[in-house]
Amino acid sequence: MRRRDLDRAVLDLASRCGAEVLAGHEAIEPVVERGFVRGAHVRSPDGVTRSIDADHVVVADGANSPFGRALGTFRTRRWPYAAAIRSYWTSPRSDDDRLEIVLDLADRSGQALPGYGWVAPVGDGTVNIGVGLLSTARDFKTTNVAHLLEAFAVDLADRWGIDPSAKAGVTRVGRVPMGGSVQPTAGPTFLVVGDAAGVASPFTGAGIDAAYETGRMAADVLHEALSGAGPTALQRYPRLVAETYAEQYKLARLWGRLLGRPAAMRRVSGAAVRSRTVGDTMLRIMSGALRHDEFGAPETVARLATRVLQVAPEA
Ligand SMILES: Cc1cc2nc3c(=O)[nH]c(=O)nc-3n(C[C@H](O)[C@H](O)[C@H](O)COP(=O)(O)OP(=O)(O)OC[C@H]3O[C@@H](n4cnc5c(N)ncnc54)[C@H](O)[C@@H]3O)c2cc1C
Repeated sequence: MRRRDLDRAVLDLASRCGAEVLAGHEAIEPVVERGFVRGAHVRSPDGVTRSIDADHVVVADGANSPFGRALGTFRTRRWPYAAAIRSYWTSPRSDDDRLEIVLDLADRSGQALPGYGWVAPVGDGTVNIGVGLLSTARDFKTTNVAHLLEAFAVDLADRWGIDPSAKAGVTRVGRVPMGGSVQPTAGPTFLVVGDAAGVASPFTGAGIDAAYETGRMAADVLHEALSGAGPTALQRYPRLVAETYAEQYKLARLWGRLLGRPAAMRRVSGAAVRSRTVGDTMLRIMSGALRHDEFGAPETVARLATRVLQVAPEA
């Protein structure tokens, strides 16, 4: 399913449940009264500005989050973020039931890059092809991700039956803050969710699930606040977020270091390709799909790695 269809379905559901949807409106800045956020100044598509009062505000304005910044959120600059680009191509393999992930990305000169490429069959005659690059890449600022995607599509063309010069959808490019790198995520009357809170997976840069998950956590604590617990309920939200993602973020620190060492990365990805157990283990850890009631290979590796980090935090 494409993201726009998922969002449309969720929006329709919210609307059917009684939410008033103001399509095309822009939240320009917070309404602040005596230091508390009390709503938003909003501009309609025809340019009319008005203010909307609210007891609580959920900030969900994505990676750049100007609304969040106006409330004092900031990204810890020394933590890596990802730059990603993706587009769609028509492919006879659109109904495949497998993803292709390429871990040994390289630039035009053959220099290994910390990042990965993917091909995801969409099931509507197209495949989603993209690349993501970590900001720790040596020449990150001067690397053109559009060129990387072009070269990647050419490499894949035969395997996926695509014409690299004929895209079948809109190209999206952007950056993704990851690993809980944005703080604070709660104030007395506001909560911050999704990319605005920097909660995407530091393994993959994938943040759609975390955006929905943090949205649900925010809804839960707001429900508590409105059901009598009062504003203090909002302060439970940062703890909920930390508890949910702490283990994944810790493991990702090790992963980030691995990505920065192309030779080690090649050995790991080679092992993942040769051994189904190693491949499945990597995928389960990277996607955050560990099962805490199980003692399979992924859970064991994750526990060992977490233990290493406890004993040697700088490992
Ligand atoms: C090229 C690329 C590919 C990606 N691929 C994947 C993937 O395959 N899987 C995955 O899980 N993640 C992927 N990600 C990451 C994922 O897109 C984000 O983590 C996710 O979209 C975060 O959701 P969000 O709702 O927090 O923010 P967004 O999806 O950015 O949504 C924010 C919304 O707020 C709106 N908005 C912003 N400012 C205002 C304002 N002032 N007033 C009103 N509205 C406003 C924006 O228009 C936007 O609709 C990708 C990212 C990129 C850049």
